[in-house]
Amino acid sequence: MNTKLNVTAPDDDYFRSHLPNQNENGRRQWLYPRATSGRFTKWRTVVAVGLLFALFAGPFIWVDGHPLFLFNVLERRFIFFGVTFWPQDFYLVAIGLITFIVFIALFTVVFGRGFCGWACPQTIFMEMVFRKVEQWIEGDHKARQRLDAAPWTTEKWLKKMVKHGVFFLISFAISNTFLAYIIGREQWLTLITDNPAQHLAGLTTLLIFTGVFYGVFAYLREIVCTTICPYGRLQSVLLDKHSLIVAYDYVRGEPRGKRVKGDELNSKNSLTLLPSPKGDCVDCKLCVHVCPTGIDIRNGTQMECINCTACMDACDEVMIKIDRPLGLIRMDSQQGIHSREPFRFTKRIMAYTGMLIVLLAVLGFLLISRPELDVTILRAPGQLFQREANGQVANLYSVEVINKTYHVLPVRFRLNRADATLRFVQPLSQTQPGELAKTMFFITLPEKAIRADKTNLTIDVLTGDAVIDQIGTTFLGPVNQ
Ligand code: SF4
Ligand code: SF4
Repeated sequence: MNTKLNVTAPDDDYFRSHLPNQNENGRRQWLYPRATSGRFTKWRTVVAVGLLFALFAGPFIWVDGHPLFLFNVLERRFIFFGVTFWPQDFYLVAIGLITFIVFIALFTVVFGRGFCGWACPQTIFMEMVFRKVEQWIEGDHKARQRLDAAPWTTEKWLKKMVKHGVFFLISFAISNTFLAYIIGREQWLTLITDNPAQHLAGLTTLLIFTGVFYGVFAYLREIVCTTICPYGRLQSVLLDKHSLIVAYDYVRGEPRGKRVKGDELNSKNSLTLLPSPKGDCVDCKLCVHVCPTGIDIRNGTQMECINCTACMDACDEVMIKIDRPLGLIRMDSQQGIHSREPFRFTKRIMAYTGMLIVLLAVLGFLLISRPELDVTILRAPGQLFQREANGQVANLYSVEVINKTYHVLPVRFRLNRADATLRFVQPLSQTQPGELAKTMFFITLPEKAIRADKTNLTIDVLTGDAVIDQIGTTFLGPVNQ
């Protein structure tokens, strides 16, 4: 039996009652995370560059004359990967959101908070953009700490002003991109090139967004991840002992401690049956110094851990130096650390996967079968019926047609009764791409054919010769018999 398995996890509970970025007086303690290098940092940089490029390019990419993305909440028009959604498609958005939530739950159950550390815009901007700028201007973690503690000299003023000036400019760039996603490329271009006096509301919004982003990245920083973000709070209910998380291998690492001469031999025996006085953790605290949320992962997984993997790189660097296997801190499950079990598909993962497949199938079917034209026909409000000179009775209807495609579509209406006729107030024979067309028409029936005060009618909606919708409505008329 491996004697190391008798080692228990560290039991210092101080971290349970104190936030990592809080001092003894309860005030915020500014964090100065040390920069990392290593394989995970390299991959994170590649992912971050790709995502930043996609984020900044997103609102400016147009395909076939329309944007790839648009989230125009003001006009209630949304384009996602080139597909336009209208308020009438709310059911699709609702099912899409439920599908997304189930996907997030499944992803979290399997990979923990991996999204936060690797793909969340907050982390990417903070760690890969703003923190890098800070390092270039103020120096490494120690230099930054010294600078903040130093009196306000000309050099300090200069560095702080340059840093905050660059922060503001980056925030302004993010804000412009954000706005371009909401109002679209064309309107955004008009906003920034036109006479400012004509766009005071738009420019004020731009400055408010800039101020919010600047405040988040210059001051709030890790508080967004550790306290504000609701997804972070969900970890405690989504993670279980089988979830893959950034985990410290306490079985291998404890008892921790600085190495002294003679430990080396014992340490090398630590994976054999011989007991070792020290584990592989040399208590250098490098994993704590690189952590952007200031936690000590050796205390076990914590809600503040964003799975950024910086501590994995830092610890691997130490393991190389002391000639021990990599991965003292690694992606593993609690169960994996404790009993060396490989990752396995649990019933919970299977249930979430099954649910996700069903939802994706429903969503896919609804998307494929979504009609190209969305037609609403309602009897004109406040109107009953009117008698016409030739023995006919007429009802007035209002018609709204949304063309959800990117091309002009012809539209026709056909009644299911041979004795009924349809007469437009304003003719409507075609609809423009992505636009809402409105008109009104009369339906007339011979008075002698009316048998009830309400007659049910069906109106076929055609584009070309294809019937794309059948709309039921009622016709009001006088009842003489
Ligand atoms: S970096 Fe590795 S060796 Fe150093 S304290 Fe952290 S876990 Fe221990
Ligand atoms: S504990 Fe490690 S993975 Fe978690 S936030 Fe800190 S550095 Fe990142």
